[in-house]
Amino acid sequence: MRTNRARWLVALFAFLLLALLVTYGAGYRIDYYSCHKCRNLRRVRAHTFLWWAVSRSESVDGSHPVEPGHEHEWWHYGTFRQSGLWGTFHAFEAGPQQYRDGWQAPVPSDEPPVTPPKKPKAAAE
Ligand SMILES: [Zn+2]
Repeated sequence: MRTNRARWLVALFAFLLLALLVTYGAGYRIDYYSCHKCRNLRRVRAHTFLWWAVSRSESVDGSHPVEPGHEHEWWHYGTFRQSGLWGTFHAFEAGPQQYRDGWQAPVPSDEPPVTPPKKPKAAAE
């Protein structure tokens, strides 16, 4: 009788542990890099399980022309982290597109610039 109960407790504990691992162990992160010499951006995506990177892929946004022989100087400016089975926990630790020299990407021009409405001048006198 007593061993039966202990067995149930062990099974319950193992189940809870497994549920916790599946729910919180799986993660995903993106590391963002920028090159201040050519303005291109690089992303490194990684699926993680607990502390291990399960898969890793990277892509370079080459929208800015690069001269032949150019060597990127990648600078890490941000990280996006997500963990949990349904992305329960996530955090983004960066502003958008930052460069080491402080340059900021211009706002896309398909949206009209926001101009404050003109204040009617107070009638003099
Ligand atoms: Zn570069």
